[in-house]
Amino acid sequence: MPPTTAEERRRELIALYHEVRDCHRCPLGAVRTNAVFGMGNADADLMFVGEAPGAEEDRQGKPFVGRAGKLLDELLGRIGMERRRDAFIANVLKSRPPGNRNPEPEEIEACEPYLTRQIQLIEPAVICTLGNFATKLITGSPTGISRCCGKPQDRVVAGLPVTVYPLFHPAAALRTPAVLAQLREDFDRIPDLLHAAAERRTEQPDLALAGSGFPAGPSQLDLFGG
Ligand code: SF4
Repeated sequence: MPPTTAEERRRELIALYHEVRDCHRCPLGAVRTNAVFGMGNADADLMFVGEAPGAEEDRQGKPFVGRAGKLLDELLGRIGMERRRDAFIANVLKSRPPGNRNPEPEEIEACEPYLTRQIQLIEPAVICTLGNFATKLITGSPTGISRCCGKPQDRVVAGLPVTVYPLFHPAAALRTPAVLAQLREDFDRIPDLLHAAAERRTEQPDLALAGSGFPAGPSQLDLFGG
């Protein structure tokens, strides 16, 4: 039976964290230091999905803690948001591919159920996909990020109606000034997208899902290894 109360869903999220922490469904489980489940506000309407942990994320067990994470925080600050209070951040893969190589299809397939369950439990209204791997997985389309970035799409993801908003990965923006300019411009539209999604849920209450969410007020789940 799916969880129906906020407390049940919160318990499921924490149970999922423990499952991910001990996961060996793919070979990356044997070479990581820490699995990186995700962190942020489990009540958030906004979710970010990146690619996979890097070296520092693997060491600390937290998502987006290196230079790309600093940029993400700066971009959120520009729109008056803060990662722990206003968003939940996760990755397609929860364990680091050695040398930061690209995720393999079998690894994505093995790890996808965790992301699906995170989305079902957090119930975001807007999912920002960061880079090619997250965008292709969440949209189910082969269209690359440079063709679809900054173009919101209404989709059903993990059985839920959400606005998917593909964005360049912050790591790519650190390498290329033009990508950074584009990312800044696209980020500035996030508040409008959240507002529009909230209005849609008010007008069509059946879009707001059963269980009516976690209890009101910030409820941060800093879920990381250890
Ligand atoms: S990447 Fe995902 S499926 Fe593979 S070991 Fe880590 S948590 Fe498990």
